[in-house]
Amino acid sequence: MEYVETGAARIPKVGLGTWQNTGSDCAETVRTALDVGYRHVDTAQVYDNEAAVGEGIARSDVDREEVFLTTKVWRSNLRYRDVLDSVQESLDELGVEYVDLLLVHWPHRRVPVAETLDAMTELYESGAVEHLGVSNFTRSQLREAREVADVPLVADQVLYNAYKDQSSLRQYCTRNDVALTAYSPLARGDLLSDALLARIGERYGKSAPQVALRWLVQQHGVVAIPKASSRRHLEQNLDVFEFSLTDDEMARIADRTGSLRVRLRNRLPSVVRRLP
Ligand code: NAP
Repeated sequence: MEYVETGAARIPKVGLGTWQNTGSDCAETVRTALDVGYRHVDTAQVYDNEAAVGEGIARSDVDREEVFLTTKVWRSNLRYRDVLDSVQESLDELGVEYVDLLLVHWPHRRVPVAETLDAMTELYESGAVEHLGVSNFTRSQLREAREVADVPLVADQVLYNAYKDQSSLRQYCTRNDVALTAYSPLARGDLLSDALLARIGERYGKSAPQVALRWLVQQHGVVAIPKASSRRHLEQNLDVFEFSLTDDEMARIADRTGSLRVRLRNRLPSVVRRLP
């Protein structure tokens, strides 16, 4: 396993996504994932599976302390008191004393982010939460949140994959020591049959989803949290650290994100591309 080190946090580069996985299936997936080597699990209050995620962790042979566990405060719980109460409920559901990372799930137009972060900071100071972060924040929303936060925001979890350009946010995160966590890294399945990824993968004996994940984790500061159910998919998605894509392959995949700026940049000779 490789890690993103933000100064404040050390985050395993591949984590398990659990959205739309609930009940005993979810508990079994989490247990299996930890068994095959995952050490990072992503859940949220709104996924209705915190109890199942906690059960999977409890049933595995891996110690709680070895697991980087993330949950997210839902939009209806962003007021000061609601953050404190709902996170206590999350801890009870998960059956843990603390979570490693607590995220604001979505920005809210009517609840000032400072109010939410104040409550999250109280949880941080009490030891209920190891690190704070955000999700679905644009570059300017992240900048604003960082300005009012009293403790470092270690991650912004956003939609990022080979079909979605996030170069502006990624650049900001890299400069400011914030991990960019890529959700829907397989574009919810759309990337599974991508011809370019499959072609590139043939060179390495890897599948299209493995190339999609490798493309993400090979980027500085990027974490990926694919959702998978079967042991086979779980194992495949972790098996992305033993090969490297060339600069040209990285650029050709980035080209798919479709932004004109990215397309132009990728047409430059690689030596020019590396200039700041
Ligand atoms: P995803 O990870 O992009 O794709 C999941 C799909 O790919 C599933 O159908 C899965 O099938 C399949 N798959 C996974 N590995 C595979 C493999 N090796 N070969 C073939 N198929 C494979 O989708 P996602 O669930 O949208 O995103 C991942 C996680 O990101 C979520 O679970 C959640 O934790 C997080 N997320 C966060 C937000 C947010 O607002 N912060 C929003 C969306 C998602 P099987 O299940 O059958 O294996």
